[in-house]
Amino acid sequence: MSAPTYDLGTLHGGLRLTANKQMSTQQAIQEVPIPAQLILPITQHVGDPAQPIVSIGERVLKGQLIAEPDGTLGAVIHASSSGTVIAIESLPVSRRLGDNAPCVVIECDGKDEAIQPRDAAQNFTSLQPKQLLEKIILGGIVGLGGAVFPTAQKLMQARTTDINHLILNGVECESYISCDDMLMRDRPAEIISGAQILMHALQIEVCFIAVESDKPEAIRCLGEVLGRINDERIVLKQVPTIYPSGGEDQLVQLVTNREVPSGGLPSDIGCLVQNVGTAAAIHDWIIDGEALISRVTTITGDGVKNPVNVRARLGTTVADIIEFTGGYTEHAQQLIIGGPMTGKSVTTDRVPVVKATNCVLVSSQAPSISPELPCIRCGDCASVCPVQLLPQQLFWYACADNEAKLRDFGLMDCIECGCCDVVCPSHIPLTADFRVAKGRIRELADEKARAARARQRYEARNDRLQQDQKERDAELAQQKVTAKSAGPAAIAEILKRKKQKAEDDK
Ligand code: SF4
Ligand code: SF4
Repeated sequence: MSAPTYDLGTLHGGLRLTANKQMSTQQAIQEVPIPAQLILPITQHVGDPAQPIVSIGERVLKGQLIAEPDGTLGAVIHASSSGTVIAIESLPVSRRLGDNAPCVVIECDGKDEAIQPRDAAQNFTSLQPKQLLEKIILGGIVGLGGAVFPTAQKLMQARTTDINHLILNGVECESYISCDDMLMRDRPAEIISGAQILMHALQIEVCFIAVESDKPEAIRCLGEVLGRINDERIVLKQVPTIYPSGGEDQLVQLVTNREVPSGGLPSDIGCLVQNVGTAAAIHDWIIDGEALISRVTTITGDGVKNPVNVRARLGTTVADIIEFTGGYTEHAQQLIIGGPMTGKSVTTDRVPVVKATNCVLVSSQAPSISPELPCIRCGDCASVCPVQLLPQQLFWYACADNEAKLRDFGLMDCIECGCCDVVCPSHIPLTADFRVAKGRIRELADEKARAARARQRYEARNDRLQQDQKERDAELAQQKVTAKSAGPAAIAEILKRKKQKAEDDK
C-alpha cells in the first residue's frame, strides 16, 4: 500500500526565528570518550522516578539495568559504561522543575565491558506486534524530542485506539539545535528501519517523515535510503521552517491537514508521532540489542570554542563534554540546557546529559532581567500563539489564581512554546507563569482525585459496618425468638455471648 497524499496544513501564528544552526553542522558527529564518572538521574522520563536496583560498591556492566520503573509511566535506566557504583544521592540535574534529583553515580573503569547482548532480532517481522512492544519496554526508550514520554507506553496506548498514520518528527524548529538534522544525515537507514519496526508493532501502513525545508542535506540522505529500499508506505514530507512546527499537534496539523481536538491527543485523529531520534533508538535496541545509553546532543553558542554535535553516554557531565570539544570562550556567560525558547538556564556544568538533553547552549549573554511592565492589551501574544489561545487573558486569570477560567480559556492546551514571551513588549514572563499555573492545576486535580479515593474508601467502610450491624441485629432477633421457646438456660447463654461480644468490641 502506498501512503495517501494530503495538502499541507497551515500553522496559526508562530515565529520565524533566526536559525543559528550552521555553526554546529560543519563537522560530523563526534564520539565523546568514556568519562571518569557517570551521573545517572533516576528520573529521565515523565512519571514517577525509577527505583535503583543496584547498591553502592556494586560493579556494573555497560547495558546493565540499574533502575526499574515505579508506576506505569516510567522507563528502565541502564548503566552507560562499566564501573562501580560509588553513590546514590541527590545531585544537580537539568530538570525543568527543581534543581536536584537522586542519581546513581558510577566510577567508570574504562573497560566499557558490556553485559551479554540481549537476543537481537535481525528479522523483526518474525515477532508478533505484542512481543515487539514487550521488547521495547526493556530498551529504556523514551521520546527523544524532549518530551521523554516512555515510548512503549505510548505505543501500547496507541494499540488501544485506531491509529493508522505514523509521523516521524524530523522538524527541529528551535534555533541552535541541530542534533536531529545531523542524525538524519548520519543514520538515515537506521531511522527508516526504526519507522518500519514501529509500523510493524502497530500494524500501520502509512508513515510520513516530516523534515523542515531548510534541511536539504537531511532530506537528501533520507531520500536516498527511501529510493533504495523502495518502501512505498513511507513518504518524506517537507514542512515550512517556522517555530513551533515541531510541536506534536502542530506537526499533525501540518502533515495531515487535520486538527487535534482541544484537550485531545494525535491518537484521537489516528496519528502517532515519534521523534526521528526515537526511531533510531528503537532500531538500535531491536536490531542491534543496544539499549538507550547514549544520545546525540548539540553543543553550541558563542560561548564554546568548537560548536559541534556529539554522541555522549547518558550521565556524562556537560563539563566533560565541553572540555572534550575544546572548552569555553572568554565570552561564555550563560549555560542553557535545551534551546533558547524552551531550554532551562543552569548555574553549573556538573549536570549530566540525560535522555532529554538535545542541546547545550552556551551564550555570551547573561540571563536578561528586563523589568516587567503592565500589560497594555496590544494582542501581540494572541497573534503568535500556535494554539490560538489568549495569553493576555490567561495571564490575568493566572494572577487571580482562577482555576475555572484558566481551564475555560484552554490553559492546559498551552504547549509552553514561549512565542508569547518573545513578542510581549511588556516583558511579562507569560510562559513561566503558565507553567506554574498548569502545575498548580495538576496538583489540585491530583489532590481532588486522592480526596475522592479517600471518600470512597470511607463510604465503603461505613456501608460495610452498617451491613455488619444489620446482620448482627437480625441474628439477635432470631436468637431471641429461639430463646423464648428454649427457656432460661438459652437466655443465659445468649446474654453471656452478648457480654463477651461487647468486651471484644471494646
Ligand atoms: S503581548 Fe504582552 S502586553 Fe501585549 S497583550 Fe500580550 S501580555 Fe499584554
Ligand atoms: S506559551 Fe502557550 S500561550 Fe504562549 S504562545 Fe505558546 S502555546 Fe500560546
